[in-house]
Amino acid sequence: MAGDLYIIAAPSGAGKTTLIRMLLEREPAIRLSISHTTRSPRPGEADGREYHFVAVDAFRAMIARDEFLEWAEVHGNFYGTSKQWIADQLAAGRDVLLEIDWQGAQQVRRLFPEAIGVFILPPSLDELTRRLTGRGTDAPDVIERRLAAAEAEMRHVGEFDYVIINDQLEQALDDLRAIVRVPRLQPGRQRLRHPALFARLM
Ligand code: 5GP
Repeated sequence: MAGDLYIIAAPSGAGKTTLIRMLLEREPAIRLSISHTTRSPRPGEADGREYHFVAVDAFRAMIARDEFLEWAEVHGNFYGTSKQWIADQLAAGRDVLLEIDWQGAQQVRRLFPEAIGVFILPPSLDELTRRLTGRGTDAPDVIERRLAAAEAEMRHVGEFDYVIINDQLEQALDDLRAIVRVPRLQPGRQRLRHPALFARLM
């Protein structure tokens, strides 16, 4: 029986990475897909943990070999999701989570219409501006670009099945956990987990 495929998208500043880390700590059965990217590692990031960091040539070769389930250019760098890994995990009945942008989400939805899309929003645009302005050390045009990119991402919120407002982190995490737990309560899934109970019922 196949696992569930989750797509989580958000503008930067919505707290997506923290929320996903907390979700995975509490729901260890969910596997996070590690994307390939051509951007450079940030301090503290490790190859194979946050991303598989690859050169542009290697990324293009993967596109040519049709190895990506989806790929997109985001903020001038390429990002892509490995097709084979996802297929293996889902076939083994594992839930998989993709942390990708709206462009990737559209591609995945075409291939997996049953994928469950979750969009994370900040509590307000003022709060997002505060979060993206950081410590005030970035140049105004850098902040402008960040805000414009965040707004462009948020315009796609209506394409997702669920929306989480990340105001209070614990509440947002509760909401996210509710989303991943509900599909496990469907009769077909419960039957797999409790075969003896269901043996003469279905
Ligand atoms: P960052 O470079 O800050 O880690 O990520 C920048 C953006 O790229 C985020 O919106 C993130 O969701 C998106 N992203 C990361 N991995 C993938 C991927 O495999 N595919 C697509 N389409 N977007 C990705």
